[in-house]
Amino acid sequence: MNAEIIAVGTELLLGFVTNTDTVYLSRVLAGLGIDCFHHVTVGDNPQRLAQALETALSRADLVITCGGLGPTVDDITLETTASAAGRRLILNRRILRQIKARFAHQGIRMPKANIRQAMVPEGAVPFPNGVGTAPGFLLVIRNNRMLVALPGPPAELIPMTEKHLIPRLRRRAGKTVIRSRTLKVTGLTESEVDAKVRDILALKDGVTVGIYAHPGQVDLRITAKAPSPAAAQRAIARVEGRIRRRLKTLVFGADGQTLEAVVGLLLRKKGLTLAAAESCTGGLIQHRITEVPGSSDYFLGGVVAYANKLKKRGLAVSPALLARHGAVSAQAARAMAQGARRLAQSDLGLAVTGIAGPAGGTKKKPVGLVYLALAAPKQMRVYRLRFTGSRSAIKFKASQAALDLVRRYAGVHRG
Ligand code: ATP
Ligand code: MG
Repeated sequence: MNAEIIAVGTELLLGFVTNTDTVYLSRVLAGLGIDCFHHVTVGDNPQRLAQALETALSRADLVITCGGLGPTVDDITLETTASAAGRRLILNRRILRQIKARFAHQGIRMPKANIRQAMVPEGAVPFPNGVGTAPGFLLVIRNNRMLVALPGPPAELIPMTEKHLIPRLRRRAGKTVIRSRTLKVTGLTESEVDAKVRDILALKDGVTVGIYAHPGQVDLRITAKAPSPAAAQRAIARVEGRIRRRLKTLVFGADGQTLEAVVGLLLRKKGLTLAAAESCTGGLIQHRITEVPGSSDYFLGGVVAYANKLKKRGLAVSPALLARHGAVSAQAARAMAQGARRLAQSDLGLAVTGIAGPAGGTKKKPVGLVYLALAAPKQMRVYRLRFTGSRSAIKFKASQAALDLVRRYAGVHRG
């Protein structure tokens, strides 16, 4: 079975609303092993929607529309889908009662315009809307093709999909499943990762590996299509093993795991405590660390030492050192890391100092130059890195590299 999704709404075309419905529905379809070959977005225009439906119904077994089911004049999906399917609209009394009850519950009489929302195409299975008023529906038409209409607001579309659509699709979809797993890499660019795993990416037999770059991170998404969930997991595990053997410690985690969570796991496991001294990242590292529940077990705190005065007073960085080397220097990073460690009496002190831009760069110290230091009981690691991008991109990439420095010190977490 193959599917096509048609998102309806001028607001989507204008870029006012992000089309999350299509993203969500695509994941649902993939999970059910249904191939989705096309995503289409059209405005609230009956002719163009009719055209999109005709094309979709000529090439897909399942066509899902989202949006435009409401009671207002710009909501054209109901009429247009009914006519594309060659069906009349008929009043569904059960849905009408539900809509009336919903209004009565709020102490208002149902406006006349809402009667329209109890109309469904003849022969359709209505999907009651537990959140809003517009029902969705499923209609089986010529050649056993399915036409499904869902409301636009995600808060209505998602529960309706889960309760009414998924169970029906599961019965029809057959046994094939699609499963994915994402391996996360930091410290390399997309092309560097690509060069290392290119031969694995070219694999066939039901497994595909996609490569996706984010600031400071590259994701490798392994997707397997197989006759059963267990077979899909086995196929994924095989490819995952090959990638991990190749990239080794460059892979920091998988799926929903964040770098800060992995760092937390490692610090807890090793019984290490951490403190931070941040200049150009302005507290971002400490924010990220404390996003992880239970981080107080290993994170003691730190100083956002933006001004030199605070680097001296808060972290005991020597004025002579700052005068000689400047705040953006290996020496300053080292002293800040030691300062944080001493101040918090922690095992580890992490420091970042750099130039986030857009102004403030010089030839010798350009925008994006960042020094990282990690002070540990018996060693000191200092790195000089260059990042590109906007101010926030540089800040994020610096925080990512700093967290990765802690991860590498604390040992490599596999999972
Ligand atoms: P309602 O009864 O609420 O009017 P509807 O089916 O008519 O439902 P629309 O009028 O198309 O839905 O959209 C209502 C709102 O739902 C939009 O303003 C937008 O915020 C959200 N929405 C619509 N389509 C999408 C989409 N594809 N992805 C994410 N949000 C969407
Ligand atoms: Mg609407």
